[in-house]
Amino acid sequence: VRYVYTFTEGGRDMADLLGGKGANLAEMTRMGLPVPPGFTVTTEACRAFLTTGTEPDGLAREISDHLTVLEQAAGRRLGQPDDPLLLSVRSGARFSMPGMMETILDIGLTDESVLGLAKSSGNERFAWDSYRRLVQMFGSTVMGVDSAVFEQAMTQLKDLRGAPDDLHLDAGDLAQLVETYKNLIKSETGEDFPQLPAEQLRRAVLAVFESWNGERARLYRRREHIPDDLGTAVNVQTMVFGNLGPDSGSGVAFTRDPATGARGVYGDYLSNAQGEDVVAGIRNTVPLDELGRLNPEAFAQLRDHMGTLESHYRDLCDIEFTVERGKLWMLQTRVGKRTAEAAFAIAAELVDEGLISADEGLARVSGDGLARLMFPRFDTSAVGQALAHGIPASPGAAVGAAVFDSAEAVRRAAAGEKVVLVRQETTPDDLPGMVAAQAVLTSRGGKTSHAAVVARGMGKVCVCGAEEITVDPQGRRFIVGGTVVEEGTVISVDGSEGAVHPGAAPLIDSAVMRYFETDERGERSAGLVDAVARAMQQADGVRRLGVRANADTPEDAARARRFGAEGIGLCRTEHMFLGDRRQLVEAMILARTDTERERALAALLPLQRQDFIGILEAMDGLPVTIRLLDPPLHEFLPDRTELAVRLAAAEAHGNPPSAHDSELLDAVNRMHEENPMLGLRGVRLGLVAPGLVAMQVRAIAEAVVERKRAGGDPQAEIMVPLIDTVEELRLVREEVEQVLAEVSKSTGVPVDCPIGTMIELPRAALTAGRIAEEAQFFSFGTNDLTQTTWGFSRDDVEAAFFSAYLDKGIFKVSPFETIDREGVGRLVEIAVAEGRAARPGLKIGVCGEHGGDPDSVHFFHAAGLDYVSCSPFRVPVARLEAGRAAL
Ligand code: PEP
Ligand code: MG
Repeated sequence: VRYVYTFTEGGRDMADLLGGKGANLAEMTRMGLPVPPGFTVTTEACRAFLTTGTEPDGLAREISDHLTVLEQAAGRRLGQPDDPLLLSVRSGARFSMPGMMETILDIGLTDESVLGLAKSSGNERFAWDSYRRLVQMFGSTVMGVDSAVFEQAMTQLKDLRGAPDDLHLDAGDLAQLVETYKNLIKSETGEDFPQLPAEQLRRAVLAVFESWNGERARLYRRREHIPDDLGTAVNVQTMVFGNLGPDSGSGVAFTRDPATGARGVYGDYLSNAQGEDVVAGIRNTVPLDELGRLNPEAFAQLRDHMGTLESHYRDLCDIEFTVERGKLWMLQTRVGKRTAEAAFAIAAELVDEGLISADEGLARVSGDGLARLMFPRFDTSAVGQALAHGIPASPGAAVGAAVFDSAEAVRRAAAGEKVVLVRQETTPDDLPGMVAAQAVLTSRGGKTSHAAVVARGMGKVCVCGAEEITVDPQGRRFIVGGTVVEEGTVISVDGSEGAVHPGAAPLIDSAVMRYFETDERGERSAGLVDAVARAMQQADGVRRLGVRANADTPEDAARARRFGAEGIGLCRTEHMFLGDRRQLVEAMILARTDTERERALAALLPLQRQDFIGILEAMDGLPVTIRLLDPPLHEFLPDRTELAVRLAAAEAHGNPPSAHDSELLDAVNRMHEENPMLGLRGVRLGLVAPGLVAMQVRAIAEAVVERKRAGGDPQAEIMVPLIDTVEELRLVREEVEQVLAEVSKSTGVPVDCPIGTMIELPRAALTAGRIAEEAQFFSFGTNDLTQTTWGFSRDDVEAAFFSAYLDKGIFKVSPFETIDREGVGRLVEIAVAEGRAARPGLKIGVCGEHGGDPDSVHFFHAAGLDYVSCSPFRVPVARLEAGRAAL
């Protein structure tokens, strides 16, 4: 195997091996863009190192050979005393993990070569500043000294000199700081800062490997669902310097606005600084346009390269660059992260520009992004005067209590409180707090600061660089104008407008939601809504999966229809037994004679019928799958303990229980189950509770008749829940058919409802071929199927131990959220194959929660289902993802 590739050898299609950064550096090199020369150590080397704990054979050799080539081309050696070649060592995984792993700059500086650099650059301060940075980064990253130790020493020196920032420290100060840092390293680790450049390089590479398993990186991967076993590549590159004086600087550029997608030149520039300073938000940056004034030539070149990159990658690119004494160098590019809004806008624009096809445009947006755009935002007309303004770094509206450190954010969020993390600036150490918070607010840093980049990636609301705010983490408060905001005070953060409001600001629906709620074929507004409409249209044109909704009221059915649902995939009838009707249900359960029971059922019948009429009307012309009663009957009775306690207390006060109360208690005791989820529910209930199925079916059939008489086109389908064996279905089916025939006969209106079943128990999936003989359709109940396949109680386990399971990496996402392809998915595949083998063309859908989950939708498409059914609000998401699955 080969572990090292020079930039001239790689390309963008090698990201698995070279990481995203390495692959794109190679691509830019081959495109002839000005990239400082270097090489990439592969992810394979990292994986080998992480599994064995030692450097893989031959790696050291390959690195030194590649270094020699670099040195020969540069005409100087790494750390050469009179004119040192210096290197940067940066991580670069397959998937971008901004700031989560380590970077070490200025490798090659030593007590000796720093003097050479001072002379060759003609800039003594620069040389010492670079050495200071190396000792600090190497000390913390490679040698494990707490970085706060260095920061403290720096602050002390600044205070001593009365310097407002590090630019006010001179060469002598920085040389002194290097001494201090080296002494700190020695006292903290017992080891000297290494003076051999080759040793610095080797240890830096290994430290980057190790940072793959750092806590921050692991947390980030879990959140972003990035596999833990990929490893990172390491890019070793010739240093160029943005901190050589006012004709130098570093910046970040976007070919389009990553927040809105608008075309133009976006980014931040920081004069006389290295790239790290821009991203860290240590000093406030200026807009990229400013570079046009400072250095028109470099700016023109940059714009030129931006155009080249965008048409090459056919997408929004983000770029890191450095200007060294007027010369432009490209340090990184990649297809840039963007907000959901920008994703839709950019996809539509690139299609218009002819850069990508409409299908590619659809591939560039996502259901998750769409869901985000359907969230409400603040009602700006009602919020009044803002407390402060900052940079709108990640859009959306969030309300929460202000907290001033990561730990407090985590603590309060765990207790169920909504919080806003307020920091001067964030560092990767703030990640847990950012995950826990609703929004992030910082007083410093631009659109590319750590806070902004990470929040955007997470879809979290973020306002950064709100300079009017003074954050006082010790005092646990922030101050703005004359106002002091103490910890725990509720504030509202508007990431779309870049504003902070006092209190909980009122929210209004999103334009995208309004568009779905009103009429898709109506007049189109410009911009975002139009971009969303076009993506939806494309998705609807290509998708093979139908999309239905889970709805059990006429209102939900109507909304679902507006959202584009093509029917109802699951109408749960249990809510129809609640409220005032409880008494009737109770009477049915307590009935001692057939007559009593029949009377109770007869009272329920017209109510049920009316429910179905409303739903069938809202969904006129579209299928409505009505499921017979599923939950155990005792769910409709009073709680056993409460009832017993109430009766005992009454008795103690000399009130003996009434006959009704005693009967109720008897019934509750009789029906009590230790595991009601595995008990008398679903079809089992229908088979043992006389008259229940007949009543429900009669209500459905009569509703169909009524709708037909009204000139409607009702398409009711009857679905039997929790089937284990074909025998159960056969028996229920006979009863259903008999009632349908009776109603047809007595009304003279033909009622022909397809009769199908849910597949939600493993046995049903495994015997689907048999069951299909009796079923006209299947619908997977993946909630119960997940529960019973894993043996996980769906009501208990998520709270009980899923976070531990997620921490241990047993699964990356809850199987109740995203279908477990390997286990539950396998049962689905078996049931589809055997069901269709027994009954060709068998209609199959899914109505568990997974029906609205993007990843699961892709699975159901691949498994050959006919439709997914999900909650009304997820219908647009499912439509979009069903389209993407078909690409
Ligand atoms: C299911 O089990 O997936 C399902 C849709 O039914 P319920 O959630 O009502 O049990
Ligand atoms: Mg179920």
